[in-house]
Amino acid sequence: FAPWENPAEIPLIQFKNVTKKFGDFTAIDGLNLDIYAREFFALLGPSGCGKTTLMRLLAGFETPTSGQITLGGTDLAPIPPNKRAVNMMFQSYALFPHLSVADNIAFGLKRSGVGRDALQARVDEMLKLVQLGKFANRKPHQISGGQRQRVALARSLAKAPKLLLLDEPLGALDKKLRQETQFELMDIQESTGTTFVIVTHDQEEAMTVASRVAIMNHGKLEQIDTPDGIYETPNSAYVADFIGEVNLIQGRATAPHHLDWAEGEIPLNTPEQSPMDQGREYQLAIRPEKINVTAQPPEKADNLVQGQVLDIAYLGNLSTYHVKLKGGQIIKAQSANSRRLSRRRFTWEDQVYLSWAASAGVVLDK
Ligand code: ATP
Repeated sequence: FAPWENPAEIPLIQFKNVTKKFGDFTAIDGLNLDIYAREFFALLGPSGCGKTTLMRLLAGFETPTSGQITLGGTDLAPIPPNKRAVNMMFQSYALFPHLSVADNIAFGLKRSGVGRDALQARVDEMLKLVQLGKFANRKPHQISGGQRQRVALARSLAKAPKLLLLDEPLGALDKKLRQETQFELMDIQESTGTTFVIVTHDQEEAMTVASRVAIMNHGKLEQIDTPDGIYETPNSAYVADFIGEVNLIQGRATAPHHLDWAEGEIPLNTPEQSPMDQGREYQLAIRPEKINVTAQPPEKADNLVQGQVLDIAYLGNLSTYHVKLKGGQIIKAQSANSRRLSRRRFTWEDQVYLSWAASAGVVLDK
C-alpha cells in the first residue's frame, strides 16, 4: 500500500476547509487536503495560485482565516512556528557565511540546547547523509552551489522535523545539477522517512521527485494524484494543459463513444471507459506522443486524419511535429527518432497521416 491508499493510515497533515484571506482577497479557498507520513508531496500551479501561502500556513508564518490544519491529529493553530515539528527550507539557503559547514548544520540544534556529544553525533550523521563529510570545515563560499544546497538540506533535517517544506529548493542550480540533485533529494527523503512538501515551478521536477502531485489554481486544488495519474488521466483541461503538452479537441457527442468535431467528416472514436452524453459538448485531450505520424494511412486505426507538416522540432531522441489539418486546426504529434531512419522522418509541407487509438484520448467536460 502507498500511504494514501492504506485505509488504516492516518494522514500526518490535514487541511480541513481552510481559507486564507488577505483583506478581501482569498488566497486559499476552502481547501481540504491530506498528506501522509513518508510522502514526497509536490505543489504545482501558476504564479499567485497560493502555493507559498499554503506552505506558510503549515510553517505557522500565517494563520488560517477559517478552517483547521492538524499535524498528527493535533490542531496547529495554538502552536508557534518554532514549536512545530515542521521546518522550511527556502530557495536562498541563507547559510551563515562565517560559519563552517558543520557549524551551519549544528546551528539549530545548539539553539535548542542539545548536549555536546549528541550534537556532534547528529552533525556527523547529517554530513554523512548529504555526503559532505570531507567538507565539514569549509565555509559556504568554499563549496559549490550544489553542495551549499545539501548543507541547507542537512541543516533543515538536523532537528528531525516530521515535515520539511521545500520552497523551490533547487531553483538556484543549473539544469544538469538540478536533475542530479533531484535524485539525491529523493534518496534523502526515503532514507530519513521525513515527509517532504515541495513547491516548484518545474513540472518535470515535480513529476520526478514526488509520490503525489497537487495542481493548484486560484487557491483551490484542481487534482491530486500520482505523477502518472495526473499525466495519463487529468480530470480537467486545465490540468491536462498545465502538465506536459496536450491537444485539446472540442466537439459534440453524437453517440456514447463518438465525438463530432470541426475537422472530421467522420466523428472521432473516444475511449470505451468514458461514455459521453449524446448532444453534449466535450473536449478530448490527447498527448502528442500518442499520435502516430505516417506517410501512408495505417491499415487499422481508430482515428485517422490527414494534414500537412507545419513545423518540426528535432529533440534528439524525439521529434515534435505541428501538423495543420484541412480546417486549420493544428495538432501536435511526437514520435521517437529511430537511429535507422534518417534524422527527420518528415519535412516541412509533407502530407502526413495522423492516427491514434480511441483509448489514447481522455474525455473532459467542456
Ligand atoms: P509564486 O509561484 O509566484 O510564488 P504562489 O502560488 O506561491 O506564487 P502565493 O505567494 O501563495 O502564490 O500568493 C497567493 C496570492 O496571495 C497572490 O495573489 C498574492 O499576491 C497574495 N498574497 C500573498 N501574501 C500576501 C500578503 N501578505 N498580503 C496580501 N496578499 C498576499
